[in-house]
Amino acid sequence: MSQDFDVIVIGGGPAGYPCAIRAAQNKLKVACIDEWQNRDGSYAFGGTCLNAGCIPSKALLESTELFHRAQTEFAAHGITVGAVQMDVAAMQARKAKIVKGSTMGILALFKSAGVTALQGHGKLLKGNRVEFIGRDGAKQELIAKHVVLASGSTPMALPSVPFDNDRVVDSWGALEFAAVPKKLGVIGAGVIGLELGSVWRRLGAEVVVLEALDTFLPMADAAVAKEALRHFQKQGLDIRLGAKVTGCEKSKDGVLLQFADAKGNQSVVVEKVVVAIGRRPYTAELLGEGAGVELDARGFIKVDHDCRTGAANVWAIGDVVRGPMLAHKGKEEGVVVADLIAGKVGEVNYDLIPSVIYTAPEIAWVGKTEEQVKQAGGAYKVGTFPFLASGRARAMEAANGFCKIVADKDSDEILGVHIIGPMAGELIAEAVLAMEYSASTEDLQRTMHAHPTLSEAMHEAALNADKLAIDIPNR
Ligand code: FAD
Ligand code: NAD
Repeated sequence: MSQDFDVIVIGGGPAGYPCAIRAAQNKLKVACIDEWQNRDGSYAFGGTCLNAGCIPSKALLESTELFHRAQTEFAAHGITVGAVQMDVAAMQARKAKIVKGSTMGILALFKSAGVTALQGHGKLLKGNRVEFIGRDGAKQELIAKHVVLASGSTPMALPSVPFDNDRVVDSWGALEFAAVPKKLGVIGAGVIGLELGSVWRRLGAEVVVLEALDTFLPMADAAVAKEALRHFQKQGLDIRLGAKVTGCEKSKDGVLLQFADAKGNQSVVVEKVVVAIGRRPYTAELLGEGAGVELDARGFIKVDHDCRTGAANVWAIGDVVRGPMLAHKGKEEGVVVADLIAGKVGEVNYDLIPSVIYTAPEIAWVGKTEEQVKQAGGAYKVGTFPFLASGRARAMEAANGFCKIVADKDSDEILGVHIIGPMAGELIAEAVLAMEYSASTEDLQRTMHAHPTLSEAMHEAALNADKLAIDIPNR
């Protein structure tokens, strides 16, 4: 193996591996270094997302939602089943198989694109040199014209409730439970808390979620957050807002979590605790002396709009840089950086990053919330359509939630789309595309949507923005 590359990517998660593949597609000589090790000691590309994030969580969400629906919906369809049981080991084995298939798939993609896969640790040294320590501990120095840092993020710890990887776990630990905890404490009502809280609630765990803020899902449109809270409470998630965790005491029976909320000092005893209070950028042993890459006060690698660091020909992408910690945001950055390195044009549209929370009902949005638009002060209009009025949603026994479009009153341009309901994460793609092309509600109104589909909710919400909806009274 030659020691020289055009591009070395450090980190093979959803930001790093697409960057390496696109760089190879651009006819550059590329290596991707990744040190991810699973709990059994095996190495795997794919980073947090494939090994311990997006993919395993969605596998468990799917299994548990089916389990829940079999118990609560089959009868309405006229289907009689015996007592529905969940074999947690089988559910976990299915998840592990999906993860393995996905991570092995990256190696196959690297092979087909001509990317050199290097498993081990990478460190950026001065002058675009990279120290690589392989799985066997052997150290070598590689040289690249460009280095892309894609080292990702790691869970934030809560000093008053330290991780012990048994009773107090992070999101990875909560994806690996071998049995359903009788009572689960979740600290943080963010995306992870809600998704993983839902998984174990559906399997019968009592779930108490302690959220420090007084507001539920503050980043979402307020109407969506209100509707979501109502559904989650109905499902039995015991969500306590304004709950500041102050400490914990462990015993052989579980963990006593102490917290303070509007009612004063309180405590709850749980079998397991998931701490899901956010993630922080990961740069341990990434930057050698004089590498010339700066971190900001929160530990993110400082980059410009196009992901250039302060060091010449050193770029950084994904969770380790500013912006939402989302796989698709990292992937776009990776692809754009690989194109820029090759002298092509490219730019990430940071205003149109879709967000999806894979609960039931699902939540998805893109662009500005109504509150943000209102605060900006311009005239605006809103169109909504409830899934209760969607024939397809009713046929699916999933007629919960709504689709909401916020648009500029004068220009009619769509400013934000907010969906809570069935397949919201799929439906939002239409909104992202429409907004990429600066579409108006009239553009959506004049676009034919197949019947009966969930996407008609988007069409009708656009019509409702001008009081022209057909399938609901216009208000
Ligand atoms: P990572 O995926 O963290 O990958 C970084 C890689 O770099 C890792 O393999 C790491 O081992 C390696 N690395 C780090 N330093 C070095 C080094 N010095 N040398 C060699 N290798 C190194 N996002 C979504 O968009 N949708 C979801 O549904 C979703 N679900 C999630 C569920 C959970 C439970 C979690 C925890 C996260 C979820 N996320 C989701 C977030 C998503 O996983 C991250 O945004 C994404 O993984 C970030 O990609 P990345 O490539 O920047 O970093
Ligand atoms: P988050 O930022 O979504 O939520 C953390 C929550 O914890 C917040 O509501 C915060 O107010 C609360 N919190 C913080 N400190 C607390 C404390 N001491 N006590 C109680 N509550 C506290 O973070 P997360 O849920 O850990 O997820 C991490 C990242 O992973 C997010 O950036 C998210 O984008 C990404 N992720 C995305 C998906 C998805 O796209 N579906 C799924 C999972 C994770």
